[in-house]
Amino acid sequence: MVNRANHRVWLAGGLLCAAALVLADLSVPSAAEAPRADSSAPAAAASGFPVASSARLAGDGKQTRFILDLDRKIDFRAFALGDPYRVVVDTPQVNFQLAAGTGATGRGLVKAFRYGLVMPGGSRIVFDLTGPVKIASSYVLDAANGQPPRLVLDFEEVDRASFAQSLAPEERPELKPAIAESSTATIPPVTSAALPPIAVADPRPLIVIDPGHGGIDNGTQSGGQTEKTLVLEFGLALRDRIEKSGKYRVVMTRTDDTFIPLNDRVKVARTQAAALFVSIHADALPRREGDAQGATIYTLSDKASDAEAERLADAENKADAIGGVNLGDEPTEVADILIDLAQRETKTFSNRFARMLMTEMKSTVRMHKNPLKSAGFRVLKAPDVPSVLVELGYVSNKGDLEHLVSESWRNKTVGSMVQAIDAFFAKRLATVGPAK
Ligand SMILES: [Zn+2]
Repeated sequence: MVNRANHRVWLAGGLLCAAALVLADLSVPSAAEAPRADSSAPAAAASGFPVASSARLAGDGKQTRFILDLDRKIDFRAFALGDPYRVVVDTPQVNFQLAAGTGATGRGLVKAFRYGLVMPGGSRIVFDLTGPVKIASSYVLDAANGQPPRLVLDFEEVDRASFAQSLAPEERPELKPAIAESSTATIPPVTSAALPPIAVADPRPLIVIDPGHGGIDNGTQSGGQTEKTLVLEFGLALRDRIEKSGKYRVVMTRTDDTFIPLNDRVKVARTQAAALFVSIHADALPRREGDAQGATIYTLSDKASDAEAERLADAENKADAIGGVNLGDEPTEVADILIDLAQRETKTFSNRFARMLMTEMKSTVRMHKNPLKSAGFRVLKAPDVPSVLVELGYVSNKGDLEHLVSESWRNKTVGSMVQAIDAFFAKRLATVGPAK
C-alpha cells in the first residue's frame, strides 16, 4: 500500500523534523514533543487504547497529506463518500488527545476534519473536502528517526467522473468501524445507548424527544450554525416546558453533543414504552436547488410523499454512515404480522399527532408550503410508538436561520408543540377511556 515516492518524501521530511527537534532540544530543555509523548503514556496505559497526540495537514489544492501521530500502530480503513464529498477513516477506538480546535480549519483539499468515538471500540475521522478526491495512498508507519508511529493519508484532486467510479459497489464501505479486523484493542460488546427502563410506576405518558445528529455527525450547517447544536437547544427547551406541565415524563435520546445511532434512538422509545416520539431536525437545501423556508412535519411512509421528502429521508438516514454504524443491522422483526398490525395503529396516531402539531404550529410559526409530508425515515420506525420528525426550518434560508437561533422564536415554537401534545393526549385518553 505504501507508495514508494511518497515514502521517500516522508523520510526526507522526517529527517528535517528530527533535525528541528534536536535544535529545539538545545534551546528549550523541555521540548514540546517529549513531554507530550510522556504525558499521554499514563492515559494510554489507563484506557488501553492507542493515543493520538497530534494531527496536521500539508500540501495544496492538488495534493493534500494528513498525518496523525500515534503512540502505536493501528489498523484502519479509509473510504470516500459523495454528496457532500468526504473521506472517512475508521479505526479501533483511539484516545484523541489533540489540541483544542484541531481540524476546525483545513488546508488544500480538506475544508475541515472531525474525529471521535462512534461506538464502543470504534473511532472515526471524517474529512470534509473541497471537492471530489481520491485517496492516493494511505498507510501507517513505524516509529523511526525520533518520530512516533503515524497514520498518513494522501488525497489527490480528481474529476467528478473518476470519483463516481471510485464508489463502485465492490469498493463501497460496509459502514462499520474497522474494529472487527483489529487485534490491538479488546472490544467491549456494542451496547445500546438506550437508557434502562424506568422502574417506578409512574402512570404519566412518556414522551421521547430526539434531537437529531450529534457528536461526529453535525447534520446541516450554515452561517456558523450546526443543526446538531440548534436541535439540541430546542430539544432541551421543549423538555423543560413539557416537564413543567407535570403531566408527562420526558426522556431525551441525547442531552449533550454525543453521536447516537438511529436504531438506538428508536430503541430508547421502544424499551421505555414511550407514548410519543418527536425527532427534531433542521433542514438545508443546496444552493443550486433554490430556496425553501418554514417548518415541515414528517411521518413514516414506505413511499415518499414527494421528491423533496425522499431527498430529506435519504439525507437524514445517512447519519449512521457518518457515525459508523453498519446499515446491515436492520431488525427483521418488522415482517411479523403482529408488528404489522401494531404499525397500522401506530401510523394512525402518528398522522393524527402530525396534523395536530401542524394546526398548533401554523398559528405561531412559519410553515413550509406543504407542511405535512412522509418518507422512509429510519428514526420513525418504532412499530408501537407514534413518531414524528419535525424539521424546524431551513438553515440555508436566512430568515429561518434567524428564527432558529432566536430564543423568543424557540419559546413560541416550543409552546405550540406543547399545546399539540396536550391536544393529542386529551383525545387519546378520551378515545381509550381513563388510564388503567
Ligand atoms: Zn437532520
